[in-house]
Amino acid sequence: DQMQGPSGSEEKIFVSVRLRPLNVKERVKNDVVDWECINEETVIYRSHLSISERSMYPTAYTFDRVFGPESSTREVYDQGAKEVALSVVGGVHASVFAYGQTSSGKTYTMSGITDFAMADIYGYIEKHKEREFVLKFSAMEIYNESVRDLLSTDISPLRLLDDPEKGTVVEKLTEETLRDSNHLKELLSICLAQRKIGETALNEVSSRSHQILRLTVESTAREYLATEKFSTLTATVNFIDLAGSERASQALSAGTRLKEGSHINRSLLTLGTVIRKLSKRKTGHIPFRDSKLTRILQTSLGGNARTAIICTMSPARIHVEQSRNTLLFASCAK
Ligand code: ADP
Ligand code: MG
Repeated sequence: DQMQGPSGSEEKIFVSVRLRPLNVKERVKNDVVDWECINEETVIYRSHLSISERSMYPTAYTFDRVFGPESSTREVYDQGAKEVALSVVGGVHASVFAYGQTSSGKTYTMSGITDFAMADIYGYIEKHKEREFVLKFSAMEIYNESVRDLLSTDISPLRLLDDPEKGTVVEKLTEETLRDSNHLKELLSICLAQRKIGETALNEVSSRSHQILRLTVESTAREYLATEKFSTLTATVNFIDLAGSERASQALSAGTRLKEGSHINRSLLTLGTVIRKLSKRKTGHIPFRDSKLTRILQTSLGGNARTAIICTMSPARIHVEQSRNTLLFASCAK
């Protein structure tokens, strides 16, 4: 795929894979590491298997970037998300996703990336005193196609409305204008607490829900502020910690049709379809409207927007089926 400048609309989706270290649970079971990064772009299925086992899996997968168990979240951010996330200060919409099965490292990766990106955005603002910046923050969770405000104690579902200018908007979603980076830290800890409340009320919420943290950046050149012809650049960056991919991939491999109210995650499946179509630059219908997640993200995914996807996976043999599904998703997004 052809790359163009950072603001070009033909930019492809940047896809990376992050392999975490074996965890304690996997180690006590004497599990084996099956996957390995052999260079910065290739992850392989290790060949210490029997010939018949090997033939079941393609052995090498290539992506824009792969990160092994020794990579820090800082590296993942710097090389897999930073450029996309920071395009927001130049007026370009952006989305950064973490995709993978439950316990593969999505939250671990995305919370670090969010912190680094916010720090960099504040750093940029410090260096560009010639512009006046206004930052607005909001946070939501999508569970069972129901949208909840993570900055409010009111847990009633929010409606999506179609605005002729802004596209899909989430009605009554709290949007806080940030005073400084400490204010942002306070809000992030409120989100974390709100998410925990949801978890105790409903089992498995964190593995079945999507979290979207959203920062809107507005900026205006100060020298024109007092005049009548000033124009404001506005863009939004979304940090999305997706639901565990295990159910979506089960559904896909079983060839199950998507049904209302079933255990299948409509938003995750629709996102997969949308991303596949966007990455192949298919003209024609892209089914943004088929799920809450893709409706909310439509303006930050289509058109002149930048996207990075970090697919997280366990290196353990017991998770080989899920890891393979994650790599297939990642390959389709590329
Ligand atoms: P998910 O959000 O995908 O369900 P988590 O991010 O909660 O998974 O990760 C599961 C566990 O593994 C957590 O205890 C987390 O701290 C740990 N973990 C995940 N990725 C890494 C990593 N790259 N290095 C070290 N520990 C990790
Ligand atoms: Mg998580």
